[in-house]
Amino acid sequence: MTTKQFKAESKRLLEMMINSIYTQREIFLRELISNSSDAIDKIYYKALTDENLRFDNESYYIKIKADKENRTLTITDTGIGMTEEELENNLGVIAKSGSLAFKTENESKDGHDIIGQFGVGFYSAFMVADVVTVISKALGSDQAYKWESRGTDGYTIEPAEKEDVGTEIILQIKENTEEESYDEFLEEYRLKSIIKKYSDFIRYPIKMDVSVKKAKEDSDNEFEDVIEEEIINSMVPIWKKNKNELTTEDYENFYQEKHYGFDKPLKHIHITVDGAVRYHSILYIPENIPFDYYSKEFEKGLELYSNGVLIMEKCADLLPDYFSFVKGMVDSEDLSLNISREMLQHDRQLKLIAKNIKKKIKSQLQSILKEEREKYEQFYKSFGRQLKYGVYSDFGANKEELQDLLMFYSSKEKKLVTLAEYVERMPEEQKYIYYASGESNDRIAKMPQTELVVDKGFEVLYFSEDIDEFAIKMLMNYKEKEFKSVSSGDLGIESDEDKKEIDEKETENKELFTQMKEILAGKVKDVRVSKRLKTHPVCLATEGEVTIEMEKILQAMPDNQNIKADKILEINVNHDVFTALKQCFENDKEKLNLYTNLLYNQALLIEGLPLEDPVQFTKDMCKVMI
Ligand code: ADP
Ligand code: MG
Repeated sequence: MTTKQFKAESKRLLEMMINSIYTQREIFLRELISNSSDAIDKIYYKALTDENLRFDNESYYIKIKADKENRTLTITDTGIGMTEEELENNLGVIAKSGSLAFKTENESKDGHDIIGQFGVGFYSAFMVADVVTVISKALGSDQAYKWESRGTDGYTIEPAEKEDVGTEIILQIKENTEEESYDEFLEEYRLKSIIKKYSDFIRYPIKMDVSVKKAKEDSDNEFEDVIEEEIINSMVPIWKKNKNELTTEDYENFYQEKHYGFDKPLKHIHITVDGAVRYHSILYIPENIPFDYYSKEFEKGLELYSNGVLIMEKCADLLPDYFSFVKGMVDSEDLSLNISREMLQHDRQLKLIAKNIKKKIKSQLQSILKEEREKYEQFYKSFGRQLKYGVYSDFGANKEELQDLLMFYSSKEKKLVTLAEYVERMPEEQKYIYYASGESNDRIAKMPQTELVVDKGFEVLYFSEDIDEFAIKMLMNYKEKEFKSVSSGDLGIESDEDKKEIDEKETENKELFTQMKEILAGKVKDVRVSKRLKTHPVCLATEGEVTIEMEKILQAMPDNQNIKADKILEINVNHDVFTALKQCFENDKEKLNLYTNLLYNQALLIEGLPLEDPVQFTKDMCKVMI
């Protein structure tokens, strides 16, 4: 027996491999199990054409065995095995993939299920092991061989004893160091969870001896540890099953098993595409908001599998931000993986899949909206905000995509309505889509500014979330109807007659208004006759882009730039208070000052804006009382 050297480049490559290709050590098990699965696949494909070879499901499996005492982890398979030459070529030459060669040779035989292609995965074993021993007996061969290596030093090959065809890989697990612990790779529960995570859908059973507590015979309360062989993986991925055979419960179980959420999903989408890129996908719209959903910690993404093997836990590129609430997985055999198989080489396929998925989610949401309104409202309560955020972000690039998924509370229907429903109901003379912003629906319903619009029989949408107005400003219009705040300068509801009357009143009381404007200098831009009030004496309206609700939000932001709305104090000239104002103007300037300030402060209170001087306000109130 002579020790052979790895070729120089191989040596460097191996060092690189062990130290830098993979981000997580635990994937060594994924790689070794994938190799075993490939080895069994090879027998399966051979059996398709070789009459002397029978492939029966029972005889083919992968077995994992941990021995804590000796610190060994053994991976055994009943696959095709390796001859001496193959051990030398496939394990001795780094970056040589026997599996890729097999795939190319057997192209016609549907060999695309084989996972290996880079010829490096095997060496990931050295991330956790000091010594790797491979004992293998090839199909059709009488002699088994043992390959052994301590990593960069090279390897040895010698004849060995092995009864059955297949491969046994024995890892001498590293001793713990001060910084690193390797014990976990000998722990039953840990190994099980790694297998579940990456290799759950390997097509052959992955068996493991696990200890189970069992009641002793003839005893109810005495237990003993019994070793039992258990199949760890689910084998057949749910997404490859026939949709007709699957129940909602199956999908819900998968959701829970894969820890997509603790709730029951509201809806699932099962996609199978056999087009330019082939893929399977199961997507879920969750029922409840994850607790960290609207926080920085939340990470969007879908699980990404390549041929049933988990590649990425959260592939963010598969989901647009506005659908970040969607959970689930994508499995494709057409992905070009990078060498670590933790990332993708090109994103062309991924982009195609993402585009397709986006469409499916949208049409699913639309169909829930159409057919299961209550369910949609429930969904919207949780994630509507995210959709509105989607309309607003990226300078409105996705607004058209999302506008039909939006809902707002309606003054008329007293429930959430879509923009399409609103526009559908608009009377002919109504020019705009009206909305009112405030803290809550109850408060908005009491806003004086809505009085006349509602009185005209027009519907008002209530905007009670901070994002609402920003999203609508981005949307600008819907089906050519412009959005209009009930607090904005011109509501477009006055008749010519009304307008004339307002103009007259304005001229008539010009001096009074000028005086009031002076009293409120720096606080309001103007004092005017109101076009929107019916029973209330005053309200604030705004001019320009920034509304009062926006001012509130901008003021609350960390980088507050003190942006303020241009406010107009509007007076209801049909209210008795106005008569009082006129009298003061003529006889008592001090009282006019008092009343003007009181009215202004009342308008602020109605808007939910803070009073600039609450103490002065209460003093003023008292003055009126005594
Ligand atoms: P890849 O799987 O990408 O080809 P690996 O480094 O994981 O690369 O494995 C290298 C080669 O060694 C495989 O292509 C295969 O030919 C061979 N091999 C590895 N493990 C086994 C096994 N358990 N049974 C048979 N052949 C194996
Ligand atoms: Mg491999």
